[in-house]
Amino acid sequence: MTQLTIDYASELVKIPDAREMIAEAHDICEAVPAVFEELSDDTIPVSVKHVVIDRIFPKGIRNFLKTLCDNNHFKLFEEIREEFNNQLKDPKELYSTAELVYVTPPTDEQLIQIRDFLGREFNNKEMKLEMKEDKSLKSGFIIRVGSKEYDWSEAGRIKQLEERLSKAVGASNSFSEDNIISILRTTIEEFELTAQDKEIGVASWVGDGIVSVDGIDHADYGEIVIFDCGVKGMVQDVRRDDIGVILFGRDTEIHEGSRVARTSKMAGVPVGEEFLGRVVDSLGAPLDGGPDIVTENYRPIEMPAPGIVDRKSVAVPMETGILSIDSMFPIGRGQRELIIGDRQTGKTSIAMDTILNQKGKDTICIYVAIGQKASTVAKLVGTLKAAGSMDYTIVVSASASDPAPLQYMAPYSGTAMAEYFMYQGKDVLIVYDDLSKHAVAYRAISLLLERSPGREAYPGDVFYLHSRLLERSARLSPEAGGGSITALPIIETQAGDVSAYIPTNVISITDGQIYLESHLFFSGQRPAVNVGLSVSRVGGAAQRKAMKKAAGSIRIDLAQYREMEVFTQFSSDLDDVTKKQLAHGRSLMELLKQPLGHPFSMAEQVIILVASTTYVFSEIPVEDIQSFRKSLLEHFHSEHGDIINELDSYLDLSDDLRHRIEDVTRDYKKEVYKTEETEPTEE
Ligand code: ATP
Ligand code: MG
Repeated sequence: MTQLTIDYASELVKIPDAREMIAEAHDICEAVPAVFEELSDDTIPVSVKHVVIDRIFPKGIRNFLKTLCDNNHFKLFEEIREEFNNQLKDPKELYSTAELVYVTPPTDEQLIQIRDFLGREFNNKEMKLEMKEDKSLKSGFIIRVGSKEYDWSEAGRIKQLEERLSKAVGASNSFSEDNIISILRTTIEEFELTAQDKEIGVASWVGDGIVSVDGIDHADYGEIVIFDCGVKGMVQDVRRDDIGVILFGRDTEIHEGSRVARTSKMAGVPVGEEFLGRVVDSLGAPLDGGPDIVTENYRPIEMPAPGIVDRKSVAVPMETGILSIDSMFPIGRGQRELIIGDRQTGKTSIAMDTILNQKGKDTICIYVAIGQKASTVAKLVGTLKAAGSMDYTIVVSASASDPAPLQYMAPYSGTAMAEYFMYQGKDVLIVYDDLSKHAVAYRAISLLLERSPGREAYPGDVFYLHSRLLERSARLSPEAGGGSITALPIIETQAGDVSAYIPTNVISITDGQIYLESHLFFSGQRPAVNVGLSVSRVGGAAQRKAMKKAAGSIRIDLAQYREMEVFTQFSSDLDDVTKKQLAHGRSLMELLKQPLGHPFSMAEQVIILVASTTYVFSEIPVEDIQSFRKSLLEHFHSEHGDIINELDSYLDLSDDLRHRIEDVTRDYKKEVYKTEETEPTEE
């Protein structure tokens, strides 16, 4: 070991955080030996070496490495690193100066205590103290070493006490006055000042809800950080020299130079039964004007999806109560079924009807509104309340006026709340309304974080954005908890274009889609489900036997009808068989129409489907079909309760039962249409 190496190593020791950076430089040289060779090569111009160093090595030691190159000593790099590691037995010794902030200068006695503390914490009693006066502390000191901060100031103490008090009050569930006072008293009595050891960074750029922060080098992706003004943010981008933070609040009080502290806590939300019936924002804070939600449970918003071993195949139906969906595109618990369509085609309505239909079925519903108008969400909550469905529902809302980070977070928060119930063995239905706006919010964040834009200006990982969200929907095996999350993501298309970037992504992630079409919607076919393009890939396994048997041919009948309708549009004389098929198809389309908020039970749906196979509906005028359907169902409820009971209890459709339904239907039709005997209508 030459004196030269030792001198270089002791220079390195003076650089803050040199240990990590040297380790990183060593890794780079080892991974790419060409870099090391080039930098050690005397024949290569120094300016070229400087460019290489600027590109790939950590900021803090670039100057040091450049000096090595200037003096042609880069070949000694490994030796210097070894010597440096020898000199640095404890990483804490790395720091040579501390900043002492005070209101009144410390007395000699206090200085001794401070030096003792530095000796204990950093093994360096002789650390140089840089004194700085700051009246805002009121009294006491703050010591800053590197990016650590130890706060003994009065302001800091008041803040600590405040945090303790709010925690203590928050933890007690009963709010009687005496109770609160006794809690306050014990907290204050037990209060002991601990030197708060925090890692502090400084904002270097602020704008549009995004902050670049220098200094908190150890922050993790997804960690919460707190700014001086109290605004919280989440680390979303970990770069070589700084980190990108997205804010959960307004950025008006944050400016260049604002201080940021790490919390070492991953972004998460409070979860629990207490949230049922409430409207909350992405952070779990109430938006409905109700009392604060107090719960002990907290879950990170990002969690790995259950593995394959923990899952069970989809086998239990999640009934929507919508005839066209339950009969042809059945959804099972644990499935992810996409609802896709242009604006104003009834996407939200399908999700809402499904939530309404879960009443009394022991399912918890979570509706996540992303980027919608607050008034739309309020209306929706009103509908849920009126139907008594809010008792089992949580609404998570990040409206269009909320900052993009909150909109980005909302579906993950909703899923965290859903997971809490799923792992307790409960069934959950979660609606993401809608993921197109979620992707747009993420695009805004990514562009501001200067990630390179890809197709349609979305960042490259936008597929992962939705796949990691939707993979968390699952049906768990009993050992893993036994619950399920069924997801109904919603995607809005532009002019029916399902081949755009985000729609294709989400279509490929989900287990099927319900495709809604504007022209069907406007022609009065509501819900406007396109039977040809919709599909449910796993739900068939979950469909009840009775439903499966009853719905047997409906898809084929409708497909035939659609084809024939086009064919026969211009021909006037049709043979009787064709006429009959057309009338049957038309009546089926009419039967699939369903008003808002009128879910059909499984038994009712089976009765409608079986009744349709008797052609009674095609024999009556089209405009009468819906009212006839209604009165027929009432007739079954009042006169033939046994059939409904049988369907409800056996969940199967025996031939005998099918014949009984057919007979009742025919008789009832004869009774209603006594005068006008079976005249097929042509309209
Ligand atoms: P947006 O793109 O604005 O989110 P959306 O696709 O979610 O719209 P909805 O808000 O569900 O559409 O419905 C649009 C309108 O259509 C609403 O006024 C709703 O009342 C009406 N509507 C939806 N479904 C039906 C239905 N089955 N019967 C009658 N009206 C319906
Ligand atoms: Mg909608």
